[in-house]
Amino acid sequence: MFKIKNCKDCGSCKSRCPYGLDIPSILKEMLDDYIRFAENLGINILETGGRKHEK
Ligand code: SF4
Repeated sequence: MFKIKNCKDCGSCKSRCPYGLDIPSILKEMLDDYIRFAENLGINILETGGRKHEK
């Protein structure tokens, strides 16, 4: 998921999408959702990389 942060907004995927999807924007929204979802579960995914904290 965090590879999304490497997106350079080059537009290559966007120009080739047969559905006209704004893929770079969608990917970034999905990453934000992923981080919020993890936070709601008590997981700071930015620190753990997705692994739950040991208590
Ligand atoms: S715009 Fe699309 S093809 Fe370009 S870097 Fe971002 S995800 Fe990759």
